[in-house]
Amino acid sequence: MIKNLKLAASRPDLRRSVIDVNGVKVGQDFIVIAGPCSVETEMQTIQTAIAVKKAGAKMLRGGAFKPRTSPYAFQGLGLKGLKILDKAKKETGLPIVTEVVDTRDVSWVGEYADVLQIGARNMQNFSLLREVGKSGKPILLKRGMYSTLEEWLNCAEYILAEGNPNVILCERGIRTFETYTRNTLDLSMIPAVHAESHLPVIIDPSHGTGILSMIEPMSLAACIAGADGLEIEVHIDPLSALSDKEQQMPIPMFEALMEKLRRTRAFMEEIAEDKRPATSPEAGTPGASGEAPGVVSRKPNASAAFADAVD
Ligand code: PEP
Ligand code: MN
Repeated sequence: MIKNLKLAASRPDLRRSVIDVNGVKVGQDFIVIAGPCSVETEMQTIQTAIAVKKAGAKMLRGGAFKPRTSPYAFQGLGLKGLKILDKAKKETGLPIVTEVVDTRDVSWVGEYADVLQIGARNMQNFSLLREVGKSGKPILLKRGMYSTLEEWLNCAEYILAEGNPNVILCERGIRTFETYTRNTLDLSMIPAVHAESHLPVIIDPSHGTGILSMIEPMSLAACIAGADGLEIEVHIDPLSALSDKEQQMPIPMFEALMEKLRRTRAFMEEIAEDKRPATSPEAGTPGASGEAPGVVSRKPNASAAFADAVD
């Protein structure tokens, strides 16, 4: 049990916080956030947005401010990128998830973003956490690449302590001795976060592995392990991408993954522990609501929620 958490700690009266992003309910429905690593052009962003929406994604991601290892690498389009994201939102209706890297930018980036992303490199940037806390906007807080669960949840606590309850956690892999993958995706954080906190947790298998062929198996595993959703990099032409070209999914691959996720959610519903025992009056009722005593479970009719999430 992690000590010293006041607001992020699990509570007997609240199984999972539901973060409402323009009607998309993170923590209630299994949601997929998809889009390019970086916003590059209007055409690239809007075409990707239309395609991921059609495949069932519920939010559009795209970086306008890119924290890059080298100062000479593409840093993002800044305001121009945010305006492109705004057009993509108008075109598709998808809420926008985009990273903010500087305390001075929080208020005006917040005018374009529906969810402000705090990247792994800024997880413990406490002044930035306080600032996004004050903004009141939904925050996607990525796990730092060298951070423990306790440190990560304490960073969520910084945001919550500013009076902003809208925090979504995102596991994106940590640095270990393993160099085969870009990072070591720590799926054990899904049940760990759910045990220690009421905040929803999603998985980023793109940065978590850095390897295209590993994104589908890790996404399905995350879904089975009870993640509240996924954040996946998708690009209409990955080979031409200005950042992370080797891990961005082409559209057909993303469509195939979304179909497998739908089937995985249906399977999970079939094996759900919250199916009433045979003695219960509602036994066998499809999608019967309510939970068996003591059973911590996901939304009863999980696949229906996901199906509903796909237009
Ligand atoms: C991103 O999602 O665009 C990103 C830079 O990820 P991370 O902060 O996890 O490296
Ligand atoms: Mn990226």
